[in-house]
Formats: sequence, C-alpha cells, structure tokens
Amino acid sequence: MKTLNDFNFNNKQALIRVDFNVPLNDNFEVTDATRINSAKPTIIKILEDGGSCVLMSHLGRPKGVQEEFSLQHILSKIEDALGVEVKFAGNCVGEEAIEKANALEPGEILLLENLRFHEEEKQGDKDFAEQLSKLGDIYVNDAFGTAHRAHASTTIVAQFFPEAKCFGHLLAKEIESIDKVLNNSEKPVLAVLGGAKVSSKITVIENILDKVDHLIIGGGMTYTFIKAQGGKVGDSICEDDKMELALDIMKQAEAKGVKIHIPVDVIAADDFSNDANTQICDVKQIPDGWQGLDAGPQTLQNFNDVVNSCKTILWNGPLGVFEMESFSKGTIALGESIANSTKNGAFSLVGGGDSVAAVKQFGFEDKVSYVSTGGGAMLESLEGKTLPGIAAILN
Ligand code: AMP
Repeated sequence: MKTLNDFNFNNKQALIRVDFNVPLNDNFEVTDATRINSAKPTIIKILEDGGSCVLMSHLGRPKGVQEEFSLQHILSKIEDALGVEVKFAGNCVGEEAIEKANALEPGEILLLENLRFHEEEKQGDKDFAEQLSKLGDIYVNDAFGTAHRAHASTTIVAQFFPEAKCFGHLLAKEIESIDKVLNNSEKPVLAVLGGAKVSSKITVIENILDKVDHLIIGGGMTYTFIKAQGGKVGDSICEDDKMELALDIMKQAEAKGVKIHIPVDVIAADDFSNDANTQICDVKQIPDGWQGLDAGPQTLQNFNDVVNSCKTILWNGPLGVFEMESFSKGTIALGESIANSTKNGAFSLVGGGDSVAAVKQFGFEDKVSYVSTGGGAMLESLEGKTLPGIAAILN
C-alpha cells in the first residue's frame, strides 16, 4: 500500500483528490469544517517536503455550473484551516487551470473549481481524467467519502500515474482502521448495528458474521427480529418482509458461533414525537398504539457488559431516535460504554452515517479510537467490497 511517506514531494506537484463536500448555511458559510481539517496533515506534509498542491473536490450535487455550489465559497475556510494563502482556478480543467497549475511554486496551493460542474466527473470520463492528470506530478487520493465511486477524479485519473500515486494520510488511516476491525482485530470482536431498517444493513450483517464474536442489534431493526420470533411489537417500525431473513441471520450466527444481543426492554411511546407519553416495556410485549423508540435500562446494562468485555468494537447506527431528546439516552449510554471500553484498551471504530452524527453531537468524538469520514464508503467497506478509489491506487 503506497502512502505519502513513500514519496518525497520536493519540487513535485501533488494533484490531491480531497473531500471538501462540506455543509454550508444560507450565507454560504461552512458550518462543519471537519472534512477540511481532516485533509490538513496530507497537505502540510507535501508543503513541508518542498512541494506544491493542486486540490480538487466536488461540493454538493450541482446540475452543470451553479454558482451556489462554487468552491470559492469555502476558499477562506481552507486558508484559515491551513494558515496559508490558497489560489483559485475558476474551472477544474482548461486553460486557466493549466496556467495556474504551471505557475505554482513550491509551498503554494491551488484549489480547483467544483469537479461536478462537468458531468464527465461522475461519468468517469477518461479524457476528462487525462486533462486533470496534467495538473500534477503525483496523484494523491485522500477522499474516503467518495472512494466508493468510480468517478474521474477518484479512480480513473489514477491510470495516468502508473507509478506516482498514493493514499493520503486520511485515506490511509481509514483503510487501516477498517482493516483493524475486519481483518487484523484483537478478539473478542463486537459489531453494534443500529439505525432504522434491516433492509439497508443486510449485506453488512452477512459480511460481518464472519468477522465478529458478538453482534448487538439495536434501533429500529430490533422489531423485525422480535416480531419474527413471535413477539408483539405494537406500532414499532418493522419490516414484515424481512422477518424470515432475520430468522435466517440468527441461524447463521448460531452456526458461526456469533452471539447476537437484542434489546430485552425498550422505551415505548404513544406517538413519534419528543413530547409523547412513554413507558418502559418488555420488547416482546409492546401494546398496540405504542412504538419502541429507544433501548430500555436493562438492555443498556446488558449492552454495557458486552461492550466492556470486547477488545475491538465497530459501531454503526444509533440505538434509538437520538434526534429527539426523549429517545437519545440509549445512544448516549452506548457511546459512554464504548468510550469506557476504549479507555481500557479496546480499539473502537465509529462509522457510517448517523452514528457519526450522534458521536459528534454527544461529544464522544475524542473518546473513541477512530471516527470515519465516509458514510456510503464505510458501509460498502463493511459489506466487504473493495472500493474503486482504493483499488485504483493498489493496482
Ligand atoms: P441508519 O441511517 O440506518 O443508521 O438509521 C438512522 C436512523 O434510525 C436515525 O435517524 C434514527 O432516528 C432511526 N431510528 C433508530 N431507532 C429507531 C426506532 N426505534 N424507530 C424508528 N427509527 C429509529
């Protein structure tokens, strides 16, 4: 696996695919600069070597050229984060980009306009990728968030750098963290899968059964498993057409020696609302008109015991509707258990969508071993797929 440390960037120009797809408010101000800050170590290493950087990214989902998706909006935020002036090219290909890239001196940075202003980016167009490739000597991919897409800048462009291509520090760390959980893990290994639906996590569950010793199933998925076993789930979210699959997963787990842990009690509510009336219910006896929206106290104690007995922990998906304060306690308690286990030496990886939001919202970010920056890319990795952006560097 080639990383930045395999290259000396002295007098070299790095063409870096970063993921600066950051959230903006109505005034086009960056509301969360995590992704910009995450790319900093890579950029700094190259500058310190005596190289220059051409940064390319997408922002949002523009249809053609749309000013509101211009990367110019985030230029000052990047300058703040890096503490260096950043030049800007108003088109990622063409004369302006070539002129500005050619004029770049060691220690300087050029940001290219939104890649997705050209539909060729998402199409993985080879000519477009070749034009991008002219802007640097060494291709660096540091965008985990788009590594599952075979786009021009994430995958195809690598063809034009047969020897001179590598992973940036961020992407290398993502790969190492996933590897540490799925392949080179210290036992016992636990996966906590929560979130809304079984259907969106099936492939993850099936792949993970070969890797873990314990599997906690929580969140909305609980009720499909409980109903499949004959429990009464009231009005809880439930996928009737996935009940057979749930039973099959339990059978597979048993055959593979994986212990599955499911909530035994829940916080049930008489409405999907923060102000609903609530009661603690046996998970198998939720009355009609009531729905389970969070894990109950006995469940949290059980989960805490499992979490603290494991040496490797993967967490994907909240234990309840954490967006509503009344149903956030289970997710917070799980975060605390994982933080505690991490303090005692476990390796913990949080990744894939809403659990990352939860970890940030409740302040556990620095108390777990690693928080992934990629949603879809993380899920596809957990499904056991080799991501095209990663394969393009390895090949
Ligand atoms: P996912 O994107 O699959 O990880 O799902 C995350 C979503 O699942 C969050 O928005 C949660 O509010 C939701 N969720 C978690 N538990 C429940 C539940 N018991 N009932 C309904 N939605 C839930």
